[in-house]
Order: sequence, then C-alpha cells, then structure tokens
Amino acid sequence: MNEMQTAQLLIVASAIDNRIVSDPAIVAWHQILQDFEYSDLSAALTEHRRSSTEYVTPAHLVAIVKRTRQARAAATPLEASMCATHEHYPKPCDACRQDELDGTPGRKPVMVPLGTIKPIGHVI
Ligand SMILES: [Zn+2]
Repeated sequence: MNEMQTAQLLIVASAIDNRIVSDPAIVAWHQILQDFEYSDLSAALTEHRRSSTEYVTPAHLVAIVKRTRQARAAATPLEASMCATHEHYPKPCDACRQDELDGTPGRKPVMVPLGTIKPIGHVI
C-alpha cells in the first residue's frame, strides 16, 4: 500500500470515528502497513467496523488481514496453492518471481538425479 492509499484508508476511518487525518498520522500508519495490500486493509477496516466499537488501530487491521489469509489458505486445496511450474514451491512462487527478474519467465528448474551429485570435498 502506498501513502496515498494509506491516507485514503485513514479518511474512510475518520468518516466514522472523527479522527484527524494528519501527515504524521499517514506516515506512521504507512510505516506499519506498507507491506499489505490496500484492498485487504480496506476489507479489514470494514470488518472491524462491523464487529467492534473499538477505535481502530493498525494492529486491528493487521490481525484481521492475517486471520483472513489463514482462513483463505485453510480453505484452499494444497495443489491449488502450489506453483504449476516449479514443483514443491508454494504460491506466490519465489522461483517464478526470480525468473521474471532474470527475464526467463516459465523456465523449469534443472533437476539433477541424486546419484550424479559428487561430494564437494573429502573428509579423512
Ligand atoms: Zn514457480
């Protein structure tokens, strides 16, 4: 989430609790929530407003987003949560992300049969 989205989230929160949306508040909230998606946090804010009368804090939203992700993951079949290209890699796949950075999307990893692996060095 960027700072504009953080400001938007605080403006929506202020519509209900009359908080003051200041630049320092936007910066502080952004530092805490920047790694999350705006859509997830917006949904979490709605969920908090529906279920609680507490003054909303970033911790409330993070807890709701994490709980929602866990529920979503528990409801997703294992094979649907794994990368189709890279065996044993969960989505989002780090290998796919690296391939995109390398400019080789969809590249399958080289598989080496276990018997062909030579020891690196000798131990007496
Ligand atoms: Zn992958």
